Amino acid sequence: MGYNLSKKNNTLEGKIALVTGASRGIGAAISVELAKLGAHVILTSRSVGGLEEVDDSIRSYGGSATISPLDLLDMEKIDQLGALVFDRYKKLDILVGNAGLLGTLGPINHLDPKVWDETLNINLTANWRLIRSLDPLLRQSSAGRAVFITSTAGQLIRPYWGIYAVSKAALQMLVLTYAKEVEKTKIKVNLFNPGGTRTAMRAQAFPGEEPSKVKTPENVAKQIIPLTLDECEAMGEVIRAKG
Ligand code: NDP
Repeated sequence: MGYNLSKKNNTLEGKIALVTGASRGIGAAISVELAKLGAHVILTSRSVGGLEEVDDSIRSYGGSATISPLDLLDMEKIDQLGALVFDRYKKLDILVGNAGLLGTLGPINHLDPKVWDETLNINLTANWRLIRSLDPLLRQSSAGRAVFITSTAGQLIRPYWGIYAVSKAALQMLVLTYAKEVEKTKIKVNLFNPGGTRTAMRAQAFPGEEPSKVKTPENVAKQIIPLTLDECEAMGEVIRAKG
């Protein structure tokens, strides 16, 4: 793709993007990259402090963002998001469904039902509610782009990763179904699998791992950007990060 992410440029000037899980990790990094390219980024997550740090970082690059605290367990708030974004911007160009939970690693017969519900709600149901709330606005865009972050765990059958694997496998089916349903529109919908990335979630899953052995969120964010651009041709794909 013909864009240069090493410095701010205007590839996404005039675009409105919304990123979930924007307070840290991969979501923070993709928010900064989108803003560096000129998009106005609506930053959502629970932690206002984390969002403020990302906002500061975006401003330091001359970019612009709006902080919109949101607990994705509050499904009614997700339903209201569409109207809020419409009132202010009339459209949405880019949706990045990134927020996720690992849940608990352990045998499925020992999983706490609360952890099961919460993980499924964040990793799957909240993304469905986001699609439901924001699809009309993506259709208003001249090039609506939706990217959801999945994991190899959603394709691997292995012990102890039960709830996370189930949630990501279901997310993939949800997103690929949505892609089929909008294939005659201008919207492009894809999944991105970052692979091992240096974040809090990775440290939770692999506490003994030396962090420098896995790639940075900034590296992953740069690889997600092509799926948000007007010239993106991918549709209904699961794209795996390199490195
Ligand atoms: P982090 O744990 O670093 O970040 C998770 C983000 O999700 C945070 O911004 C957090 O914000 C947000 N979040 C969690 N719960 C809620 C909630 N109830 N409401 C709103 N936001 C919430 O994780 P990563 O950056 O590693 O993960 C990002 C995505 O990448 C996830 O979907 C994950 O499954 C996927 N992934 C990550 C891999 C890795 O190696 N890191 C590998 C494969 C996939 P806050 O706490 O402020 O609400």
